[in-house]
Amino acid sequence: MKNSLRTLALASAVLVAGSAVAIPPPPPPTATELAQSGDDPAWSITEDLTTEIGPRMAGTEAESAARRWAVARLQAMGFANVREEQFDMPVWVRGEEEASLVGPFLPQKLAITALGNSASTGAKGIEGDIVYFPSYDALVAAPEAQVKGKIVFIDHQMERAQDGSGYGQYGRGRFIGANAASKKGAIAVVIRSIGTDNHRTPHTGGTNFEKGVTPIPAGALSNPDADQLVRQWQRTLRMRTKETALGYTPEPLRLKLLLTPKQVGQQHSGNVIAEVPGSDPNASPVIIACHLDSWDLGTGAIDDGAGCGIITAAAKHVMTARQPRRTIRVLWAGAEEVGVFGGKAYFEKHGTEKHAVALESDFGADRVWRVDFKLPASAKALEDRIAAELSAFGIVRGKEPAGGGADIGALVAAGVPTLDLQQDGTRYFDLHHTPDDTLDKIDPVQLRQNVVAWTATLAILANSSDAELP
Ligand code: ZN
Ligand code: ZN
Repeated sequence: MKNSLRTLALASAVLVAGSAVAIPPPPPPTATELAQSGDDPAWSITEDLTTEIGPRMAGTEAESAARRWAVARLQAMGFANVREEQFDMPVWVRGEEEASLVGPFLPQKLAITALGNSASTGAKGIEGDIVYFPSYDALVAAPEAQVKGKIVFIDHQMERAQDGSGYGQYGRGRFIGANAASKKGAIAVVIRSIGTDNHRTPHTGGTNFEKGVTPIPAGALSNPDADQLVRQWQRTLRMRTKETALGYTPEPLRLKLLLTPKQVGQQHSGNVIAEVPGSDPNASPVIIACHLDSWDLGTGAIDDGAGCGIITAAAKHVMTARQPRRTIRVLWAGAEEVGVFGGKAYFEKHGTEKHAVALESDFGADRVWRVDFKLPASAKALEDRIAAELSAFGIVRGKEPAGGGADIGALVAAGVPTLDLQQDGTRYFDLHHTPDDTLDKIDPVQLRQNVVAWTATLAILANSSDAELP
């Protein structure tokens, strides 16, 4: 690692860790100085990609332009064997999206966005009675008669957590809620966004229908709009209880929904791969991954432009310092958001090759606070070395085994060792998959801390012996 980089790293680490030190540290460089230091490929990759390409939905012309951009950039940075590996995948594109509560109160517009794989309501839209469920589990437990012919609403406000652990639990409403609602005969599903902010920016993301289940229109409301729907639902419920007791016909809560996305069939996507060739041709490579595609609402800065910036900057720093023993393979995967098609395609093509270890950065750009390992027993001393190196940057050693990331998921499932540089996810789900995922949300100081942690880790892994990592 270069001395200048280490100085900046220590300054960043002290700043972001807020650790108690006896002597006050020298003033850290300002964010602008870091961003403009000329030694920050992580920032320039993220800035250039989000500025020159912007949103890059998998399988679209924008993603293909991003791949051409990526090949040119990686070649210009001095990487070897830069190439595109194409594959085909099914493509869904967004259409119009509108929702209004239309009764029993006066009509009110809601901020909604369609979920990936949502069916269309048709150009005229649909209108229906809402049936409320506090959670995905409550929907699954409900009798069919309660759901049939209705628009299902799934509540369940996601909790904020540093490790982002709420995503799996609360995310089910998005991942498989529409599938469960369709099986019970719902005409559409609307969920509370899987997000922790209180802005009127709904969070998109994919929803999945099992084979044989009819896709239905599926959208997500922003948190404040979901709150509004819930308040109207509660009032309608109270009115209904009163009216039924008095013998009136109660009025249900009604929603008008217009979503016109479409499936446009199989299209090209692809992975972009670059390498730092190792000095030992017999040593198995280290693979580091991010994903190049993004959702279409924002410019994909935190998800996952920054991840590509971080891993590539680290590989560049290791390459500049001296040739590593092992080859470092950089994978900018395509089509992650819509079903991890790039990760699967990489595994189909390269899964039988030996990989020493696989790592991924796909959780924003805030600082790394913990390192988790899932390495073979032979790598115990290597783990200790990495943990000791990272402790200087305010990073603690986790007790749970590393999980890897989506694009390296198939490799890890097949037994390739992995290591997670866990990023602080406290504010990640304020921005995730919203129009707010833009460059200004990235803190250059924290981005730099990521690069330093990655550089230190990658330098050790890429120079490890076969006895440590077979
Ligand atoms: Zn991602
Ligand atoms: Zn994502």
